[in-house]
Amino acid sequence: MEKRRHANIPIFIPHLGCPNDCVFCNQRTISGHLDFDPSKVVCEIETALSTLGDRKAEIAFFGGSFTGIDRDLMVSLLDTAQRYVDSGRVTGIRMSTRPDYIDSEIIDILSHYTVSAVELGIQSTDDRVLAACRRGHDTEASIKACRMLTDAGVDLVGQMMIGLPKATPESEVKTAEDICAFGAVAARVYPTVVFRGTALCRMAKEKAYTPLSDADAVTRSADVLDVFDRNGVGILRVGLCSSENLSSDKEVCGGANHPAIGELAMSELFFRRISKALGDEKKPRNVILSVAPGAVSKAVGQKKSNLSRLFEALGVRVEKVREDSELTGYNVKIQEL
Ligand code: SF4
Repeated sequence: MEKRRHANIPIFIPHLGCPNDCVFCNQRTISGHLDFDPSKVVCEIETALSTLGDRKAEIAFFGGSFTGIDRDLMVSLLDTAQRYVDSGRVTGIRMSTRPDYIDSEIIDILSHYTVSAVELGIQSTDDRVLAACRRGHDTEASIKACRMLTDAGVDLVGQMMIGLPKATPESEVKTAEDICAFGAVAARVYPTVVFRGTALCRMAKEKAYTPLSDADAVTRSADVLDVFDRNGVGILRVGLCSSENLSSDKEVCGGANHPAIGELAMSELFFRRISKALGDEKKPRNVILSVAPGAVSKAVGQKKSNLSRLFEALGVRVEKVREDSELTGYNVKIQEL
């Protein structure tokens, strides 16, 4: 399940300082911001804080490669964020960046601030996939960056993508396993959305790339969620969030553009876990299903789809789905009636 300890106050910094051109990237479309105005950051933070009430929050520099932007700007943004930490109004600072934008100098700078987590766009640990995406770094860069961050005591969040050029379900499972082994405490999973104006969109038009169908995005995302869950790595998110959306044909030309793709993937994993707990034999049974607190709707599935699938596949009628505080993640308990 998606695990969130803090609210994020997201400050989107689109494409600033990024000389790369990953085939899937159109940061301007994703972040919804054409420009970035540093003078508005305080106002954005204040507005967000005014809506949060008592919730603990972190300032999150997302959208581009934060540690690759102009150094003075980066330090000035960190200074601003740190003032909010020092005054006790936020609990920490987090940021997203690329593996090759982490080095000892960056680690040294970050060590002067209350950086709670760095989200690293690992995307894949298959060098063929990284090359096909023109990502501009290899897996070795990810390994080094993860090691430097974990050695520095920063929480590592691994971001990976599903359905990239040359990726397979197997390479994606391996990527998830690697992210766990690199010491990530949490992960984000992004099924690939093909944005107009990107190289990936051109590749799709030229039939050099087949965009993910929603169904494949769901099953392949569920495969990697399974890996993260079994390794105790929390899932912060599956799929782009609605503000990064999507759905409009003007912005998107294919791929996993379903607004509830994350929810569908999580429900798919629940279906697999429940089926496994019930065993393969098809026999009529009535059961009570227990899941972790907050997981009932995902276990049941949209329009109770998991319950119908269980009945069709195994003859099982789920009489009730209840929360069990002893359960976490995607673990389930079955009680036959
Ligand atoms: S590094 Fe990030 S911001 Fe830069 S092109 Fe790639 S995905 Fe886009």
